[in-house]
Amino acid sequence: MVKEIPQEIISIFQALSSAGFEVYLVGGSVRGLLMKRPVKDWDFATNATPEQIQSVFPNAFYENKFGTVGVPTKEHGTVEITTYRKEGKYIDKRRPESVTWGKTIEDDLSRRDFTINAIALRLVIASEARQSKAEVVDPYHGQDDIKAGIIRAVGDPSQRFQEDALRLLRAVRQTTQLKFTIEETTWKAVMENAKLITHVSGERIREELLKILGSQNPYEGFMLLDTSGLLQEILPELTVGKGVSQVRPGRHHTTDVFTHNTLALKFTTSEDSIVRFAALLHDVGKPKSIGKDEEGHVIFYNHEVAGAQIARDICDRLHFSKKERDKIVTLIRWHMFTVDEKITDAAVRRFIRRIGVENVKDMMDLRIGDRLGGGTQVAESWRLKLFKKRIEEQLAPAPFSINDLAIDGNDIIKELGIKPGPKIGEILQKLFEEVDEDLSKNTREYLLGKILELGR
Ligand code: ATP
Ligand code: MG
Repeated sequence: MVKEIPQEIISIFQALSSAGFEVYLVGGSVRGLLMKRPVKDWDFATNATPEQIQSVFPNAFYENKFGTVGVPTKEHGTVEITTYRKEGKYIDKRRPESVTWGKTIEDDLSRRDFTINAIALRLVIASEARQSKAEVVDPYHGQDDIKAGIIRAVGDPSQRFQEDALRLLRAVRQTTQLKFTIEETTWKAVMENAKLITHVSGERIREELLKILGSQNPYEGFMLLDTSGLLQEILPELTVGKGVSQVRPGRHHTTDVFTHNTLALKFTTSEDSIVRFAALLHDVGKPKSIGKDEEGHVIFYNHEVAGAQIARDICDRLHFSKKERDKIVTLIRWHMFTVDEKITDAAVRRFIRRIGVENVKDMMDLRIGDRLGGGTQVAESWRLKLFKKRIEEQLAPAPFSINDLAIDGNDIIKELGIKPGPKIGEILQKLFEEVDEDLSKNTREYLLGKILELGR
């Protein structure tokens, strides 16, 4: 296992331990090493105080008031070194009132959220690299849970969620990312405490949602959010779609609005979290737009307009950036675009201008989710394929130039029996200007006739 740890990280470890401090790798890095997965960030816990850590690493900076010091590295970003902590008293279900320092690594592990995140590694580095090894400190049997694929709270689950409600979402997020399952009493506690998530800030909720959306199974993640009761608290606009029928004779839809939205997330071909979020919310305007057509069947007039507004409010509440928000709103606002084969080039260009060139591919990915999530068996109809081709044509017109004319200077010389000279260029320019106005005139027949007319 030690050989998977980069030299820069080992050096940090060695610097602290040769200064006489205890130091352990902790958190996601240990989990990653044990699971033989790539490690994103390397975190250490130590008995050194923040000041002592800083004296060992002159380029270190104080990251936050919770005893975390950041050490910049060349290849592995900022390594976080945190003084042992114990669970302190929490105010408002999300922030500890004060930091309580721990004395031992066991203290520190006891305040961590899940058993798989509460394992520490002490490195024993030998001069002969092969003989280096890692000693595991695992008081909550996190290694067993890693093997079994289980997310289990450290200590009493209910109490731990009440201390910090963000853990509710972290449980679902990590379960989703790792394709694990949640242990029964932990899961019960998530459900019982789901309402507490309203104490957590929009930013932190957004971060967790984006991680679920960016995972390999975002749909399963949102199903977990739903059954836990968290979704109802975080995105009530989505869960009101439950039981809102969209059955219309002759149409594919057989599910309610909520199911359709989540299936659109499941089937969209986009891997981008922001586009996936737009797919999830694309019909969020339907419950507010329920109407009846002449035959008395349900119809959701202008639901894309209502949906765009609701999505904007959601994005603001969760503090998405303006750029992300605008993209989500645009995709939802225009998701009802038609792919009529009789559409004119000008209308295709209008569509592109409206949604923005940069959103064209994402809009198509959303449409595929919408179709497959609505019960259609084929991802793309021939009309949709044709529409995509028409868009491509509009996006990639080679700029028309004199060289693209169906005739050239030699034709002018032959046709008029004149010598090469500036006159040739003048005629070419005139022909170009005429054809540029109307590309259908770019034929030899027409242009040869035109040459005679201009040469007179
Ligand atoms: P990843 O970085 O892949 O999202 P991670 O497990 O490293 O996963 P971080 O958010 O980086 O997650 O946190 C690092 C470690 O800090 C966790 O493994 C866990 O031990 C602890 N931790 C983080 N947030 C909490 C929390 N809200 N309550 C208790 N412990 C936490
Ligand atoms: Mg991490």
